[in-house]
Amino acid sequence: MKIVVKVGTSTLAHATGKLNIQRTKRLCETLADLKNEGHEIVLVSSGAIGMGVGKLNLSARPEDVPTKQAAAAVGQCELMYTYDKLFSEYGHIVAQVLLTGSDFTHADRLENFSNTMTRLLQLGALPVVNENDTVSTEEIGVGDNDTLSAYVAVNIGADVLVILSDIDGLYTADPHKDPTAKRIEVVDELTPEIIALGGGKGSALGTGGMKTKLRAASICVEAGCDMIIASGESPEILYNLVQGKGAGTRFLAKKER
Ligand code: GLU
Repeated sequence: MKIVVKVGTSTLAHATGKLNIQRTKRLCETLADLKNEGHEIVLVSSGAIGMGVGKLNLSARPEDVPTKQAAAAVGQCELMYTYDKLFSEYGHIVAQVLLTGSDFTHADRLENFSNTMTRLLQLGALPVVNENDTVSTEEIGVGDNDTLSAYVAVNIGADVLVILSDIDGLYTADPHKDPTAKRIEVVDELTPEIIALGGGKGSALGTGGMKTKLRAASICVEAGCDMIIASGESPEILYNLVQGKGAGTRFLAKKER
């Protein structure tokens, strides 16, 4: 299978902003093992700005664009250094791919992206994708890595996109406030009711990022790619998810209905 896995800063880092070494190690070990099993893996990883803030010893996450972009430039190196070190332990080669929104709207750039990704996978490399934060601005950027991972998944013809998050799926209500809230296991249609669960008046869920995850789901299912939201707490969950098992919310691609 061709699998795109997206991890957010909340999965990679502790609340202190420092790298969660144990979890990141387990993520890399699982992905390396899935690759050994014969799957093609692409990782979409956030964490550049967060790691840059830590490395530059900034007291808080910057608000202004130049400092954010500077932090991303520092943090992206740290991120790739970490992945390179961890995946090398299992004999895998990482490749850095940095993109912005306009790379998906210019036909020639999109074609170059697809060709390079195909070649990287043929060469056995493990592409690690992030937004090119040092040049991205609100106007030209994708803006969030949930959406970026969906663009990547559909443009490389992935079978499934797995978004590992600090919430283990889409709930019928805010699980932090409503004890009767239930995780929805399978979404076979993105109805207005489901979209409304992503946030908005009176229906905001516990995690702020559900809206972008549902947008990612819509991009994926329309293009014939399954998408799963699952907890990043135990990255080993990926073993079950690729077999169609495991806890999370699975959005079925249109072709499967
Ligand atoms: N590209 C950003 C970073 O690496 C993260 C964006 C996101 O998490 O959606 O810090």
